[in-house]
Amino acid sequence: MALERLATNLNLIRERIKTAAVGAGREPGEVTLVAVTKRTPPEWARELFALNQLEMGENYPQELWTKAETLQDLPEIRWHMIGHIQTNKLKRILPVVRMVHAVDSLKLLAAVADLLPLAPHLTQICLQVNLSEEESKHGWSADSIRAEADQITRLIETQKIPVTGLMTIAGWGTDGATARPTFIKLRRLSEELKARTGLPLRDLSMGMSGDFEAAIAEGATHVRVGSSLFEGLGEAEA
Ligand SMILES: *Cc1c(COP(=O)(O)O)cnc(C)c1O
Repeated sequence: MALERLATNLNLIRERIKTAAVGAGREPGEVTLVAVTKRTPPEWARELFALNQLEMGENYPQELWTKAETLQDLPEIRWHMIGHIQTNKLKRILPVVRMVHAVDSLKLLAAVADLLPLAPHLTQICLQVNLSEEESKHGWSADSIRAEADQITRLIETQKIPVTGLMTIAGWGTDGATARPTFIKLRRLSEELKARTGLPLRDLSMGMSGDFEAAIAEGATHVRVGSSLFEGLGEAEA
């Protein structure tokens, strides 16, 4: 029963993504759904894989590497690290991930650069910007990323770090309407930084269960959806 519900939820989210993309005059294929499996049993990720959902996101480093190890018989799963990483966790995270969404300081970026040889599958990195100015969130403010843009660019270019975009989290508990100004800000900031630095910032990782349609309308390339995917499945409901 639970697994039927998972399939229903997944299909509904896929449909909503498609509708939002088409409504914004975009190709649905431009938007990648990252299924956020944090705090759910590995069997659910296995089930998602069976439903052809290959992009999985985890927020906690240790949960990511443990789950990736449990599911190593499914090497096609593409793991996304979507949460804050302490530098001492990088060595175990980098060998596993395809995309890192939340590099949130120059120091962490430099640490990633040093360990790139450990990251054979890593092709996309987003820099996290905290636009809602909530203390509890990591990331550059819009002003601090502007101030450090030249330093960031130099590091990326000299170390060949695959930085491909920006990421943000709208305020917790927002809906599409209240989150939308944040998404607009991230898109504009990305355009500004692209023009100024020449960096290939094509990814915008923004949008979660409560607000992903608004994010897609504003150009999201990656939406990170957890709770609506697992709604009604019981045990791991947040
Ligand atoms: C948990 C989490 C999500 C998913 O949030 P839901 O509201 O459950 O969809 C997305 N992004 C990050 C960074 C998260 O930690």
